[in-house]
Amino acid sequence: MKGHAGKILDIDLTNREISTIDTSEYEEWVGGHGMGTAIFYDRVEDKTIDAFDPDNVITMMTSPLAGTGVPAASARTEIQGISPQPYPTEWFNRSNFGGRFASMLKYAGYDGVIIQGAADEPVWVNVVDDQFEIRDASDLWGLGTWEAQAEIWSEVGQRGWNQVDETRDSGRTTQKPAVACIGPAGEAEIRMATVQHDAGNGAGNAGFGGVLGSKNFKAISVLGTGSIEIADPAELLEARLWAQREYSYDHDEDIPQVRDFYSFSRSPGEGDLGGVVETKARPQGCVGCHNTCRKRTSSSHGNESSCVEAVYYSGFDSAKHGETTAETAKAADIVQQMGFNAYTLNAGLPWLEALHEQGVLGEDGEIEADLPWDSLGEASFVEELVQKIIDREGIGEALAEGNARAAEEWGRLEQDLESGLLTLFAWGYPQHYDARTEVEWGYATILGARDVNEHDFNWHVYWQPHISILTGEEPPVSAEELANIIEESTPPHNVIPDYSDGAIYSEVAAERNSWHRHYSRFYKQSALFCDWAFADFTSPYTDDKSGITPEGEERFLNAVTGMDITFEEGMEIGRRIWNLERSIWTLQGRHRDDEEFAAYNYEEPAPGPYYLPAKVDGEWEYIDTGGRKLDRGKVEEFKTLYYQEEGWDTETGRPTRETLEELNLGHVADELEGEGKLPG
Ligand code: SF4
Repeated sequence: MKGHAGKILDIDLTNREISTIDTSEYEEWVGGHGMGTAIFYDRVEDKTIDAFDPDNVITMMTSPLAGTGVPAASARTEIQGISPQPYPTEWFNRSNFGGRFASMLKYAGYDGVIIQGAADEPVWVNVVDDQFEIRDASDLWGLGTWEAQAEIWSEVGQRGWNQVDETRDSGRTTQKPAVACIGPAGEAEIRMATVQHDAGNGAGNAGFGGVLGSKNFKAISVLGTGSIEIADPAELLEARLWAQREYSYDHDEDIPQVRDFYSFSRSPGEGDLGGVVETKARPQGCVGCHNTCRKRTSSSHGNESSCVEAVYYSGFDSAKHGETTAETAKAADIVQQMGFNAYTLNAGLPWLEALHEQGVLGEDGEIEADLPWDSLGEASFVEELVQKIIDREGIGEALAEGNARAAEEWGRLEQDLESGLLTLFAWGYPQHYDARTEVEWGYATILGARDVNEHDFNWHVYWQPHISILTGEEPPVSAEELANIIEESTPPHNVIPDYSDGAIYSEVAAERNSWHRHYSRFYKQSALFCDWAFADFTSPYTDDKSGITPEGEERFLNAVTGMDITFEEGMEIGRRIWNLERSIWTLQGRHRDDEEFAAYNYEEPAPGPYYLPAKVDGEWEYIDTGGRKLDRGKVEEFKTLYYQEEGWDTETGRPTRETLEELNLGHVADELEGEGKLPG
């Protein structure tokens, strides 16, 4: 397959050896999560081991598209392995980051990295083209992620800008090495530790930083000077021009005020970081991406941070200062440097504050905690709290295990999940979008292993109409137009985005979730089209208002790889990956009874307004779904419909032999049977 560099680095930390395997051994999985899941399946004999067991295998995988200039698909790295963050089970899991690591790895000649075993002392791995070695990291251990990268940059060295040869593949580059590393949180094996790259790229929502910490693996640095062979370079360039002409942000055109809530045609991030930094910034993007959705700031605070890590503290900041200040961006920098997942603070800080206000948590409370509450709203509060967690000091000892395990330790888990004081919606993950309203987000989370964090429908069904309606504007696309566009754009399921009370538990919802799982597992997590740009359903630039999905994915993938597959054939690869992953979870003990929401989703009404499309009395409209609670019995009915849709056993939610054999996964069925976990 074209687009591959051809080799995968195979790092054995226990024996301090690095070798390579041929990417072609796993070519059928294309890249990213598919390849990483298959490697994990083959390498980890006992899938029930703990995340911190040395036998846990972590893979960092790129895709054929990485480093090729495919817009919003040239820069993602997918990490997988058993993860310590989910509660109560440490499921096999995934996470993903952007930047320039994936392209640099490809230019060095590798499609991915396998990390297994554990070193007896801290190490880092240096890769420069076809040279690689394991180095002593004792001088790096203890450093923050930014300092560690700077040390490595100076140690590996850079070539001057005037040393660039005129030919490609010349062995020279002006680039700094691309480094993926852990911070103090990872070293301390905190369950919410991230893998960081450059200023603000992080693989956060699985806790793989802690797993690397348990392996004494501080960093991998890569410098590559090669190139990638493309199947049809002319078609790739033509496709890129087509995407730019037809779908990309147009500075000269006056587009609706919801411009930030498109996907492929998102406006660049030159703004002021969501109103939370004190200075202006310029757009910054991952390699090859036209969207440039992140920022470089003139203050240097908040570089490359976006979404929750950029704003998780803004409410506390503005409560203290009357407006958001530089403290919010400084708080973003603290978690990036510590290698700590900001999402856990997003739900955790309001919970700790509420417990403190109730007198439950404090110096004299039943939960003893010495925190500087007077400085809540200052970045220094976050710094002190995160440091206590890393040091497992005082309240930090329980919180190092994550909010759910801390609540359990304090005897508060049940009551705080029932009241919604602690908004961990599933698997101990902080609520992101509300499962009671935006149900596909919630379903995908309980059917998976983490906050799903996939925005395919979210931009189009929620943000665009919701913001428009709240600001008194007409949504850019009517509910009926949106339903038609999504149905047309989502073969082979042809999804109906109906969020009415009846539809959210029906076959319509089961089909929507099936499409979403297969699409994500292949196109976004294996071919590695970026979640913030794909799937792309609506565009402000096209006559029919439709976005680049599904034509774009198919066109770019075939131009690079020469696979010559249809969009639907890619979806079938996604179904195969999803079933392999489901089988791993089954081997870990997953049963349909495990797949449920935290109690508050059934007990407490969702806050509103929350506008989504729905078909009411035969007519499409945007309805306010705020106030909705989920119905426990009907969620079970949905699950049964969904398992049927996937060809899984409805009693257990586990894949059947018939389905696995249909996907050429008969050997997986054999293993399930051997472990007594094959249904029937
Ligand atoms: S959309 Fe943003 S996060 Fe995604 S590849 Fe582009 S710049 Fe990176």
